[in-house]
Amino acid sequence: MDAIEKELDRLTNGANLSKSVKEIDKCLELLLAARTTIENDPSATISTLQTLEPGLKAGFQAANESLKGLHGGIGKYGKALDKKFKTTNTKEYPFGALGNSQPLINRAIMMHLLREGNFEIAEMFSQEADLAGSVPSVLELEFRELFSIQESLRRKELQPAIEWAEKRRDSLESRASNLEFELHRLQFLVFLFEGGAGGQRLALEYSKSRFLPFQKKYLPEITRLAGCLVYREILSTSPYATLVQDDSSWQSIIDAFTTEFCAMLRLSAESPLYVAATAGTIALPTFNKMSTIMKAKKTEWTSQNEIPFEVPLPDKFKYHSIFVCPVSKDQTTDSNPPMMIPCGHVLAKDTVQKLARGTGSRYKCPYCPADSFPKEAREIYL
Ligand SMILES: [Zn+2]
Repeated sequence: MDAIEKELDRLTNGANLSKSVKEIDKCLELLLAARTTIENDPSATISTLQTLEPGLKAGFQAANESLKGLHGGIGKYGKALDKKFKTTNTKEYPFGALGNSQPLINRAIMMHLLREGNFEIAEMFSQEADLAGSVPSVLELEFRELFSIQESLRRKELQPAIEWAEKRRDSLESRASNLEFELHRLQFLVFLFEGGAGGQRLALEYSKSRFLPFQKKYLPEITRLAGCLVYREILSTSPYATLVQDDSSWQSIIDAFTTEFCAMLRLSAESPLYVAATAGTIALPTFNKMSTIMKAKKTEWTSQNEIPFEVPLPDKFKYHSIFVCPVSKDQTTDSNPPMMIPCGHVLAKDTVQKLARGTGSRYKCPYCPADSFPKEAREIYL
């Protein structure tokens, strides 16, 4: 960011918006002072206006000069950007081709705006990009609910989130989610540590009424929490106290809530547009370099579905494991998935078919003495 600001500064010869704003402010002050003078002594109107004129003229001129520099600078900056990233030409840059995916990209932008809570902008964008109907209107209501619950969590109010989770207990359970219990636990600790003199009683009542359905799964944790009731005074430096007082632990419960909320809508927790743009930005220099090398060596890119180099991305952008068949050394794909054969070894589907010579007959595992039929192999999901 610093570099961009410096570059903008260089291109605009130091002209900036605040200089113009200062000049305009000075003009306003002159005008206000003139008004006061005239109000106090109407006979001085003409002489006051006469002395006012040169000051105003100079002020406006200075403000205009400064803006001129700025406009010129922004123009130059645009050109500088084009020059810097000239390889976005679709012919040289196969991944840059938009083709007929524009409606999909518009939809992604619309979804991103909704997920960021920019509802008014989303509405306007939907009208201007003619997206009516492509994003279900119920999603907006859902996201409004998400934002209102996130807001209450930021204020350390847990009830709206707890109500939401209680209504969806079965679905959360089927996703093996701990969210509802974590929310109850936090509410219990909030009562205990921040409930003042009656805090212990409130926490006890709360645990009696809410922990019951969780006894089977979380008994050791509930036991520890019950212990906290007795030792509240000496727990001020315990991890439980930090759970209530630390902002980062509240942020992680907000994140966990957002993930579950989006999962219920069958959406990822992060906006796909944000992930694609961020990963793309990280990967861009590598692609740029490849494009330069390709041009210098006059080579063509022939592989259809793979890139000829590694793009180092941070761990949070890695979504699934990759399986390489130990026999064919091929990376598995949707059409050639990894299969587990009865002995427990895993091979690519194509390899299994090759071993059975495409006839479905019995074949021997390449890694152990067991043999089996291809139809006994089960697809596995990594
Ligand atoms: Zn085997």
